[in-house]
Amino acid sequence: MSLLQATLPYTHTDDLFIDGAWQRSTGAGRTEVTNPATGEVWGSVPQASVADLDAAVAAARRAFTGSAVVGSGWRDLAPAVRARFLRRLASEIEERAEAISHTNTWENGSPVAETSKAAANAASIFRYFASLAPLLETPDIRPFPDGSAETVVRLDPVGVCALIAPWNFPINLVVAKLAPALMAGCTVVIKPASPTPLSVRLIVDAAVAAGIPAGVINLVTGPGSLGDALVKHPGIAKVAFTGSTPVGRSIAAACGTLLRPVTLELGGKSSALVLPDVDLDAMSQVLIRSCMRNTGQTCYISTRVLAPAERYDELVDMVTATIQAAPQGDPMDAATVFGPSATHSQQQIVRGYIRSGLAEGARATTGGDVTSGFDRGFFVKPTVFADVTPDMRIAREEIFGPVLSILRYSSLEEAVRIANDTPFGLGGTIFSADPDAAFALAPRLDTGSVGLGFFASNHAAPFAGRHDSGLGAEFGPEGLRAYLSVQSVHRRIR
Ligand code: NAP
Ligand code: MG
Repeated sequence: MSLLQATLPYTHTDDLFIDGAWQRSTGAGRTEVTNPATGEVWGSVPQASVADLDAAVAAARRAFTGSAVVGSGWRDLAPAVRARFLRRLASEIEERAEAISHTNTWENGSPVAETSKAAANAASIFRYFASLAPLLETPDIRPFPDGSAETVVRLDPVGVCALIAPWNFPINLVVAKLAPALMAGCTVVIKPASPTPLSVRLIVDAAVAAGIPAGVINLVTGPGSLGDALVKHPGIAKVAFTGSTPVGRSIAAACGTLLRPVTLELGGKSSALVLPDVDLDAMSQVLIRSCMRNTGQTCYISTRVLAPAERYDELVDMVTATIQAAPQGDPMDAATVFGPSATHSQQQIVRGYIRSGLAEGARATTGGDVTSGFDRGFFVKPTVFADVTPDMRIAREEIFGPVLSILRYSSLEEAVRIANDTPFGLGGTIFSADPDAAFALAPRLDTGSVGLGFFASNHAAPFAGRHDSGLGAEFGPEGLRAYLSVQSVHRRIR
């Protein structure tokens, strides 16, 4: 692939976005950006210094409160005014759809079939949160139970928020935090993941074009230690994180000590519970989206298929044929379904799981090779394992690659037990020809979301992980509340 084939406004950069301008970093280190389809380095970004981080947080604090004139901060704008900025930002993002898609694909290998929707999805998230402005404007007055007085329950933005994102959806997982933060009246410092530091710059450019005031959005790049320093920075009021469970735990511990509000969207190991009456053709249509989205690098996908014994072989055949029919290759090709793994280290992790599955006695019905079939890039052959038992590592641990495990159950009780026997609690799907039976079963899955016959995320509904999958919720009014702090003002009834 040559650079000419793609729209890549940013490749090698020296600057960070602080106080409304791209400013040269004072940091000494650099992080390279690699195209996972080729293994070639094509970009690089600075690693922010402590001074850069201090400047970004200070700018965000000034923008929050308004530096010169009291009442002139982002927090002081009427919610309807902030909503107008969000809508303008949405349109500016749509203008940059191709550059966002190509940069994202070159950073993490997500096929353009996926990344070409990133801008529209981001725009729709901003418009959704803009539509919640009335929630912030409607007075909430609650009488004392004895009728002696009343309380006005006000909502204040919490302050400067640290937004820390992973590499699998570098636009969406920033925007899911940025949109509610801005709507609430918060200002932010964003730290993207090291493999994907460039595509998010196009969101910042869109914010500049939308006229969002200086300091409201700041962007710093650098390693995990920069994320750690951001989480603990004295100027930060709240942390929003998406990423791995171990890093989430360490952030939660830091926020516990600081008594700093935190939302965490972490890993998962979700199940597709297939009932005996399943329509296999219908399931085949949504299988990849629900169980292998983004080359298996999606937190909520149902990577364990729980199949009834009486239909086990049929199901294994359907899943195998569906995965085999999906093309893997150049992620810039619109027909590609499976790209490479996002990084060399992720490729090695996924191959380790494939070896572990084979060693523990699982049967690969497709893939299963530890060679990719490609002469370069971080590809892993999409792999389906049958005869997987609940104790195997591939059945229990998050793989984050194109590997599906099919387990067998003989009673619904057993299926529910297997589905819930994991430390995670993020997603899950139920496949049945009977929508009422599927709906009745959903409450028995101990997870934050369940899809009946498909899985998709809805910006208007909370996306929340239970147990090791996280704390708090993103999206919906619940997602906005995470950026607000309440104040009860008691007054005499006039
Ligand atoms: P990660 O290692 O947890 O990193 C996530 C982000 O945190 C990156 O920006 C990373 O920076 C930063 N970071 C690393 N160490 C940190 C620390 N000690 N303090 C503060 N920030 C720190 O996860 P990843 O490797 O990027 O992504 C893969 C994982 O994310 C998977 O395990 C997946 O389960 C999870 N994930 C969950 C969801 C969800 O919504 N639940 C979505 C996507 C991914 P560097 O990149 O510079 O290290
Ligand atoms: Mg990591």
